[in-house]
Amino acid sequence: MTRNFLAIGECMVEMAPTGEGTYRLGFAGDTLNTAWYARRLLSEGWDVSYLTGVGRDSVSEEMLAFFEDAGIRTDYVQRDNDRTVGLYIIQLNDGERSFSYWRSDSAARQLARDRARLDAALAAADVLYFSGITLAILPKEQRGGFLEAVRAARNKGATVAFDPNLRPRLWETGEAMCATVMAAAAVSDIVLPSFEDEATYFGDAGPTETVNRYTQAGVPLVIVKNGPGEVLWQSDGATWTFQVPPVTEVVDTTAAGDSFNAAFLASHLQGTDLETSVAAGSRLAARVIGRRGALVDISQAV
Ligand code: AMP
Repeated sequence: MTRNFLAIGECMVEMAPTGEGTYRLGFAGDTLNTAWYARRLLSEGWDVSYLTGVGRDSVSEEMLAFFEDAGIRTDYVQRDNDRTVGLYIIQLNDGERSFSYWRSDSAARQLARDRARLDAALAAADVLYFSGITLAILPKEQRGGFLEAVRAARNKGATVAFDPNLRPRLWETGEAMCATVMAAAAVSDIVLPSFEDEATYFGDAGPTETVNRYTQAGVPLVIVKNGPGEVLWQSDGATWTFQVPPVTEVVDTTAAGDSFNAAFLASHLQGTDLETSVAAGSRLAARVIGRRGALVDISQAV
């Protein structure tokens, strides 16, 4: 029987400089990146779907075609008559990248507006994946309903995976971000934080504090990524560490965490032990940061 991995969030139009005064149009977003890699790594026995909102204009059509070309199902993409997709431009100033966003009224922000529709989509999933960015973009009065829908799907047997992906600029306050992230963790089976962000916004002194905070919130499996440092994870009351492979030339760390999550989850969901799955996550992340861009071709063996 086919199993369904459902990622939920926002994909945006990305305008990236070509270096010749022009910009290349692409598509990217944290949860979409994870779905994209998960599709490549999960077997044929899995469907990978993306739940988001898009408009009815041609760039929205192009985004849908991009999902479908990547093998990502679009059954749960909602079409909005009055809105379109968000956009960001990357600009290079002396080699430093800066980002400008136009996403404040994107169609994706409405993905939880119709609760019955959301419940139906989540009920069809075996695995749900979302992030702190998914929550941040929702109108604040819809976040509680979204988490209730996740909890209901989990109660019916879905596995819930969550990356806090802390981005304070997307939230009305730092307190709202931290409180909502902890509420999301409380309805999750697997939480995949990055230590640097957790230290900055929760004040954790070390990865052990991060693991303990999420474990105490009731999360059965917590996996703390830490850049080039050890991955620390806790499950069933025991903790383990894994030293990630060194990367000699870090070209672009975009999507390091997103790709780690995809490879970890694909491995774990297909029955592989935790240590091997963490190793798979860090191997993919190492490949992704060695190349430019969020989505790198992983069909070639290294
Ligand atoms: P982060 O979200 O920055 O903690 O990174 C996610 C994952 O990407 C880490 O767990 C590593 O597997 C990998 N990674 C990130 N930065 C580096 C680096 N400088 N060297 C090696 N691996 C890295």
